[in-house]
Amino acid sequence: MNERVIDWDHLDARARAVASNAYVPYSHFAVGAAILTANGNVFVGCNVENASFGLTNCAERTAIFTARASGDDSEVLAVSVYTPTEVPTPPCGACRQVLNEFGPTMQVRNICDSTMVTHTTLDALLPGAFGPKNLADAR
Ligand SMILES: [Zn+2]
Repeated sequence: MNERVIDWDHLDARARAVASNAYVPYSHFAVGAAILTANGNVFVGCNVENASFGLTNCAERTAIFTARASGDDSEVLAVSVYTPTEVPTPPCGACRQVLNEFGPTMQVRNICDSTMVTHTTLDALLPGAFGPKNLADAR
């Protein structure tokens, strides 16, 4: 694991702030995420719902896609996810899979409206993950 010191206060603040940009007319459940890449960049994302529901995109995936669109192809070291709840809420299964693509051992922190915090790693949240290595092994 990369030994970079992670400024969680900064990541948490960015995750909380970007939640106000969420497009959530259906659930009113505004989520924000902030990721730190090995290049030292922070990218944020919020959830963006869609009337079809199935096309809704979570905050974590929005942050990952923004990092890629911005040209940062370095490993993702950490993600902070804010949810408007009284207890921390972990990333959904789809987000775990997408996060795994860019940082299989990243640190994952979940914050909420109370002082409760959870802190774990992606490989703990998605054990035995399918990833790029599996496709490489097939060749
Ligand atoms: Zn998700």
